[in-house]
Amino acid sequence: MADAVNALPFFYGNITREEAEEYLRQAGTSNGLYLLRQSRNYLGGFALSVLHSGRCYHYTIERQPNDTYAIVGGKSHRSPVDVIDYHAQEMDGLVCLLKKPCNRPKNMQPKVGPFEDLKEKLIREYVKQTWNLQGAALEQAIISQRPQLEKLISTTAHEKMPWFHGSITREGCEPRLQNGSRTNGKFLIRQRDLNGSYALCLLHEGQVMHYRIDRDGSGKLSIPDGKKFDTLWQLVEHYSYKPDGLLRVLTVPCPRPDGDAGGIINKLRTVPIPGLKKVLMCQSLKCVMVISPSEAMPMDTEVYESPYADPDELRSSTVDRSQLFLEDGELGSGNFGTVMKGIYKMRKTEKPVAVKILKNDDNLQSITDEMLREANVMQQLDNPYIVRMIGICEAESLMLVMELAELGPLHKFLQKHKQTTVKNITELVHQVSMGMKYLEEHNFVHRDLAARNVLLVTQHYAKISDFGLSKAVAEEQNYYKAKGHGKWPVKWYAPECINYFKFSSKSDVWSFGVLMWEAFSYGQKPYKGMKGNDVMQMIESGSRMDAPLNCPPEMYDLMNTCWTYKLDERPGFSVVEPRLREYYYDISQ
Ligand code: ATP
Repeated sequence: MADAVNALPFFYGNITREEAEEYLRQAGTSNGLYLLRQSRNYLGGFALSVLHSGRCYHYTIERQPNDTYAIVGGKSHRSPVDVIDYHAQEMDGLVCLLKKPCNRPKNMQPKVGPFEDLKEKLIREYVKQTWNLQGAALEQAIISQRPQLEKLISTTAHEKMPWFHGSITREGCEPRLQNGSRTNGKFLIRQRDLNGSYALCLLHEGQVMHYRIDRDGSGKLSIPDGKKFDTLWQLVEHYSYKPDGLLRVLTVPCPRPDGDAGGIINKLRTVPIPGLKKVLMCQSLKCVMVISPSEAMPMDTEVYESPYADPDELRSSTVDRSQLFLEDGELGSGNFGTVMKGIYKMRKTEKPVAVKILKNDDNLQSITDEMLREANVMQQLDNPYIVRMIGICEAESLMLVMELAELGPLHKFLQKHKQTTVKNITELVHQVSMGMKYLEEHNFVHRDLAARNVLLVTQHYAKISDFGLSKAVAEEQNYYKAKGHGKWPVKWYAPECINYFKFSSKSDVWSFGVLMWEAFSYGQKPYKGMKGNDVMQMIESGSRMDAPLNCPPEMYDLMNTCWTYKLDERPGFSVVEPRLREYYYDISQ
């Protein structure tokens, strides 16, 4: 949404109400002249300023919890642009119809708010310190969880501000304001209680004034009878340019005596709970932010980083049987045997694991070879969105010990959880595209990419699995030529796989398109009821599957791009992943 709105010629970004009035007046006097700007008090919201009979009217466009936009109390729309289009036809409470956009002066870009610059730095620092990540793991965490991280940062960023003094008393704050320079408008904010109430303390003619900041039922902050804000930093920004009921505007922040800029980040402690790596404990709020598994970010789980990322854990491709404890009950089964849940005791930690156990049958040699080939591929891969192999265990049977993805295959999960949102599905398929981009960069082809081979760790964390058919490909050749037709998942295969036995990352992209179709249709079978030959004919004739019910057009468009017939014209994951990323960020804002 942000990019789409930024590109609008009548969007001004983070300008004040007064600046908006100035631009409208300069543009003329015609009724219905309007511009759009970023809301300075509601996160992700906008404000619409309209000229009518020489007066300016301002309307807040709120972003609602279900990702729609509406002028407060009005009809909901998919985007702020839809709100404007609607009010160009219908007054529906507005002072007049929206007639003419007031475009930005030439060469003026939408104004970027002061928080935008800081945001990047805060997100990085937050992820680094909270999950102790660095390098590729850090970058991947930021890419896949940016919308959630931005929200977290927006609501906690005040703790990084010099004017935020935490939980000090009224008496305690007065000497802080009286010490040093006694500039009028010098201010600080202190925390009053644990219910999210604060006080704004302001120096005025040598006296300290205290204004309560309360939080209403919907979480909005305001001084009594004042404007409402989503965050403290928006409130400070507002009263820094306009007194709006205060005795004067805020001028200089009163620095914290300890100079502590660490704020929330230093105060976060983690508490282990089963299944999740940690729970964030925010000491400054003296509360534990309990993350339920369904809300957990991938970094909160035990399987975001390799167990061998810890230098104290010796990397070994073999697992000692005496350290492996199998539990009752199967996770699943396949040609090779069964998959069981277990615990692997490592030097420092115990890891819940999935163990693929080879069955003893007539084909033992061939399935042993197959499993060892799979293990050999998995061993070379290390990415948060790929099931990692922990090791091979040779005991009563040959066993492949892997990271556990307890919620099982994506298609089955979606069949059972029809209430899963499009945003959630997009988040998961985006993660799959991140894992596939990694495979593409490392010259591996998967050859069996399908929703059944995407396993869920949590509802918000997907990993690619089943490397039984995968191959490393030579960099210069970049494809794998199969010797003959095997037991192939034809419905997931690109034409060149079937016609020429040629497999590359581009053919994985085709399969990824089918996987997207499966995901957005909540786990339905692709080309339902059709035989492999019919599917091939359908593809050759230029037809493709229809869009799943309620599938966003942007996502169906991407599936069709993945199903580009010609290999050279089909994009790689280096293109597919950013397209998914952009759409995911857009709908998650
Ligand atoms: P084949 O290798 O014969 O094609 P398959 O593809 O069904 O068999 P897998 O996908 O490797 O074999 O595993 C079978 C099932 O076991 C999966 O569908 C899943 O339910 C479960 N499973 C496999 N690996 C894991 C894991 N790492 N964590 C949790 N469950 C798993």
